Parts: sequence; C-alpha cells; structure tokens
Amino acid sequence: MKRGLLLVLSGPSGVGKGTVRKYLEADPSLKLAYSTSMTTRKPRAGEVDGTDYFFVTPEEFEKAQENGELLESAEFVGNRYGTPMKEVNRLRDEGKNVLLEIEVQGAMQVQEKCPDALSIFIIPPSMEELERRIRGRKSEPEEIIQQRLAKAAGEIKTMNRYKYIVCNEDPKLAADLIAAIIRRGMESDSLN
Ligand code: 5GP
Repeated sequence: MKRGLLLVLSGPSGVGKGTVRKYLEADPSLKLAYSTSMTTRKPRAGEVDGTDYFFVTPEEFEKAQENGELLESAEFVGNRYGTPMKEVNRLRDEGKNVLLEIEVQGAMQVQEKCPDALSIFIIPPSMEELERRIRGRKSEPEEIIQQRLAKAAGEIKTMNRYKYIVCNEDPKLAADLIAAIIRRGMESDSLN
C-alpha cells in the first residue's frame, strides 16, 4: 500500500484552522487522518481528552519527550505541545494522509525531519479580523488574548517558510484550496 502524505497546517491561533480542518475531514476522498497532539494546556470548555488533545501533566509530557515519542514539540504561550510519532507512522502506513495542526516551531522541526511534508500556512484577511475571531471565543482572560495576538504577529512573519500560503477569508473556500493542494500531492506522489 502507498504510504500517506504528511500534511502540516499552521497559522496564528484564532485564524480558523479548526473550521477549515472540519471541512477537509468531511471529504473522504482526501483520506485524511488528524493527528491528536499532546499538551500541558488545560482543556477549554467543550474540549474532549483524546479527541481535541491528549491533556497531560508537565511530568507526563517530559517523559514522552525523553523517551523519544514525539515527532516534534514546542512551547506556546506557557504550555507545551507535541505530536506523538507512533500514531503518525501507523496512520501513514495505512495509506492515510496525516494532518498535523501545529505551530511554527514544530512545523519547522517536521520540515527538517520530513522534507517531503506538505506545509501550509493559513493567514487571516487582516489583523483586525484575527483579533475579532480570538475575542469571539470568549473563553480566555485578556492577558492571554494579548499574548496570543503578539504571538500571531510574529508567526505571520514566518509564512514564507511554508510551501503554501492560504488566506482564510472564507473557511469553505480555504478548505477547497487546501484540498486542491492535497490532491496535487497525492497525484505527484503516485508519479514518483
Ligand atoms: P491552542 O492552545 O489554541 O489549542 O493551540 C495553540 C497552538 O499550538 C496552535 O497554533 C496549535 O496549532 C498549536 N499546536 C497544537 N498541537 C501542537 C503540537 O502537537 N505541536 C506543536 N508544535 N504545536 C501544536
């Protein structure tokens, strides 16, 4: 069986990666599998352990890292995040195209380890719109919102280190563009 692609999706927090991902996952022809990350962040309202993230203690995270279980890891606004490697490999071996929704530092680590990864950066239509979307979540204190906005400005500067840049003016359209990138990746992979 042909091994699945490794897809890296990044973009500032609040840009709408989750919504875009849901559109992509609804299309079975893309053969997507989402890689659930590990994090030390506390769950937000409605988040489910094992689905949105594996919520772990800093000690558990440290142990996974020491044991070499993470494909990449990063610290983001005071919390740690990482991709469990075993699951990614298992899914790719099953022919699934594995989608990592991760921040910039992690994305750079993945591109270094797996140069054939398809990396995509999602940008907001404007910084004002990004702020509106972050505030729309209404789940975080002002201090964290300010940290996320400052972080976003820095992250957007790194977008040219990705293979593709997609603007999320409209999440369905952004998902259609990304679907085209994935289909192209699947085609060129079968030509190799
Ligand atoms: P949030 O706390 O908003 O869920 O995520 C914060 C940031 O961490 C987002 O940009 C998200 O894409 C990123 N992130 C989630 N999981 C991982 C991971 O496993 N590794 C890395 N490097 N970043 C992650």
